[in-house]
Amino acid sequence: MASLDIQRNDTVQVISGSDRDKKGRVLRVYPDTGRLLVEHVHVVKKHVKENPQKRVKGGIAEQEASVNRSNVMLVCPNCNQPTRVGHKLEGDAKVRICRKCGGTIAAKKK
Ligand SMILES: [Zn+2]
Repeated sequence: MASLDIQRNDTVQVISGSDRDKKGRVLRVYPDTGRLLVEHVHVVKKHVKENPQKRVKGGIAEQEASVNRSNVMLVCPNCNQPTRVGHKLEGDAKVRICRKCGGTIAAKKK
């Protein structure tokens, strides 16, 4: 499978499902499955059992669940629009480019 063109800390917009049009920051990428964990997107309620040893309170917790890469679009940091991702070579490095404005999309280091 091709490597994902979305990276951690990118902003993405959901294009299908009940969270459609929501935007969020990418928390994790799972290259093997092509899935992403996006902040505040696809939040599921999880029933948690109390575990005093781990200081976990029982009850209902909310947690993000992963979404498929094909259900989101990358939001370009330059033009702020959801876009498809292109690639070009800059010297020896492959960089991502926005198909809308042509700008380079740098990977955000956290
Ligand atoms: Zn752009």
